[in-house]
Amino acid sequence: MAADRRTVIENCAIATVDAHDTEHATGHLVLAGDRIESLGPGPAPEGLENVARRIDATGHLATPGLVNTHHHFYQWLTRGLATDHNLFDWLVALYPTWARIDEAMVHAAAQGSLAMMARGGVTTAMDHHYVFPRGSGDLSEAIITAARDMGVRFTLARGSMDRGESDGGLPPDFAVETLDDALAATEETVRRHHDTSPGAMTQVAVAPCSPFSVSTELMRQGAELARRLGVRLHTHGSETVEEEKFCHELFGMGPTDYFASTGWLGDDVWMAHCVHMNDSDIAAFARTGTGVAHCPSSNARLAAGIARVPDMLAAGVPVGLGVDGTASNESGELHTELRNALLINRLGAHREKALTARQALRLGTHGGARVLGRADEIGSLEPGKLADLVLWRMDTLAHASVADPVTALVFGAAAPVTASFVNGRQIVENDRLLTADEDAIARTTRAEARRLARVAGHA
Ligand SMILES: [Zn+2]
Repeated sequence: MAADRRTVIENCAIATVDAHDTEHATGHLVLAGDRIESLGPGPAPEGLENVARRIDATGHLATPGLVNTHHHFYQWLTRGLATDHNLFDWLVALYPTWARIDEAMVHAAAQGSLAMMARGGVTTAMDHHYVFPRGSGDLSEAIITAARDMGVRFTLARGSMDRGESDGGLPPDFAVETLDDALAATEETVRRHHDTSPGAMTQVAVAPCSPFSVSTELMRQGAELARRLGVRLHTHGSETVEEEKFCHELFGMGPTDYFASTGWLGDDVWMAHCVHMNDSDIAAFARTGTGVAHCPSSNARLAAGIARVPDMLAAGVPVGLGVDGTASNESGELHTELRNALLINRLGAHREKALTARQALRLGTHGGARVLGRADEIGSLEPGKLADLVLWRMDTLAHASVADPVTALVFGAAAPVTASFVNGRQIVENDRLLTADEDAIARTTRAEARRLARVAGHA
């Protein structure tokens, strides 16, 4: 077999986000095939053979690619609506529109969501998709195809809802599935698309939407299904005070106890938000290894509150970052969430000691890889790991005078992405996608957003 072709990157600062937070003020990386072969301080070793490309990355910071752990791609078509609502009012306002999505809309929305994240340094994306209106086509296939075509590593959290309006839920009845249909379709999606091989580009998780949109039986049987198939579990948890109240009224217990009673705590589970957690909830997550997708912008947008990230980290809870759907975080970017996670947590009880810039970078990289169950392959720059990395430009007006590059990346303006690699393949150059036509996606998503508004009777 021919030796893998090498890419040599030199003269950049490197934040490896390894177990020791190793950084190099000036260093090099050698990529071979889809892996990182070596890295370290100073120039690359001399005499390397089979070098296909040499990149002089002077003025740049290299970090692991960002890992997004919570999102709803379809919401790309309903950005900027219900802008002054809390979660439940926002859901009630938007469900009738979301219930009208179809395959073409979902494919376009996935492209828009993926493109926005990828050009900002995301190398691993996820989509929690839970709206499957009757007769809407193969939505899972449409989403997975969009991710595959864009060359972004991807987890589809195959969601579901079976608690419609007539069962006391928020979504219209025709937008929910039956218990049996939801479980059967989820199992089929796992069997068709979940890849267990090293370096997998597509994985699938079992992901009923939330305690208030799903029956107890779907929670319980969903957890059993995931464990039978050997895939991860994802849902929304403890997002708002209204949800907490709902759980107490309906189940006679808070969300974390409800999750425990339905098989939803474990090191194969991660949950979005986890804002309203008391000390014993956090201890239960830490004891069981249950992960958290922290979504600071969405929590602020919907006035949900501030998740206790410093307490979770101190207890040993795995925590990653999430964009969340773009109907509650219109920017659709993850690199700005590094900054928002840091700033918003400093408004909480721990004040200036809440998070450091390095911790914020870890949340967005290694922390995300951990909650997706992939920390052995991605999330840090180390020899043998997959070559998912970003070169952030730090020598322009926005960042050049900031004391150190990691501080500049997290505290500073959103940094330009000179290059982003997934599996050793470059997918972004100078803030533009190499794998898709952004302008065409902008046109298509605008047209599909208008079509959705039309079929939903709003335009
Ligand atoms: Zn969400």
